[in-house]
Amino acid sequence: MNPVNADMHCHSTVSDGWLTPTEVVRRAVSNGVDLLALTDHDETGGLDEAATAAAGSGLRLLPGVEISVSWHGDTVHVVGLGIDPGCSELLEGLRTLRAGRDERARRISNELDRVGIHDAFEGACRFARNPALVSRAHFARHIVSTGLMADVQTVFQYYLAKGKPGYVEHEWAALADAVRWIRAAGGVAVIAHPGRYRLAGGELEALLEEFVALGGEGVEVVSGCSLEGEVERIATLARRYGLLASRASDFHGPDESPADIGGCENLPPDLEPVWTRFATASGSRNAKKP
Ligand code: AMP
Ligand code: MN
Ligand code: MN
Ligand code: MN
Repeated sequence: MNPVNADMHCHSTVSDGWLTPTEVVRRAVSNGVDLLALTDHDETGGLDEAATAAAGSGLRLLPGVEISVSWHGDTVHVVGLGIDPGCSELLEGLRTLRAGRDERARRISNELDRVGIHDAFEGACRFARNPALVSRAHFARHIVSTGLMADVQTVFQYYLAKGKPGYVEHEWAALADAVRWIRAAGGVAVIAHPGRYRLAGGELEALLEEFVALGGEGVEVVSGCSLEGEVERIATLARRYGLLASRASDFHGPDESPADIGGCENLPPDLEPVWTRFATASGSRNAKKP
């Protein structure tokens, strides 16, 4: 039997994805995905629309969110899966997180102005469908649209990554708060794309140890942006810390993301998939092997 095609991380226009929640669900269905989590940044506002689109499609939708966290001066992302989108503790936490984004976006714009990129705030807003959720991805798209840089990765490399001229420090949620909100909403907390963090030796291990102590349960072993050798490296950590394994495209859009929805490689077979926590008696369709 083919493994379930589960994709536990993707974005819609409610945060910095290119497709509406309905379009994300339709694309997942046509890609043969069985189980999908929509995980917009700091925002659950797309989940109702996605659930409506998924109804009767054969695709099972898990409500999710990707929470921005500050951890010892670095930004890390924690995905919440199977959350109750009506949980007031979660909603209030996300609301306070989003509230800081507007001022941060204006500071990013001011920094870009100093290096000759003018009116970037207005430009980024033209790409943001949700005015409460302006992300660096929207700045990157704006800068690409001006013709200054060829693609968003290059914009991050020169302007928006930590240490670059358009980067500003920002205080996101505490790790303990993010895990607490997710658990209060009945969800499972998962460390997103661990291979992407620029953590010094031993720091990823320290992060995972602290995360487990706080009640975190999973880690993205396979991510859309996994580099050569990374899956096995993270799989080793999942085994060491007893973490459930997630498979996650982190899809933002057809022309921007290395992996399509449901298009990542499969998990190493000895790991326990995080979606076993959401098993139903009715089961789900089999997937085409991605
Ligand atoms: P923010 O939450 O505003 O800091 O924006 C983070 C988002 O920017 C991520 O979720 C990605 O969508 C995008 N991003 C971050 N780093 C990169 C990168 N190196 N290349 C392309 N997109 C990136
Ligand atoms: Mn994003
Ligand atoms: Mn992320
Ligand atoms: Mn993401």
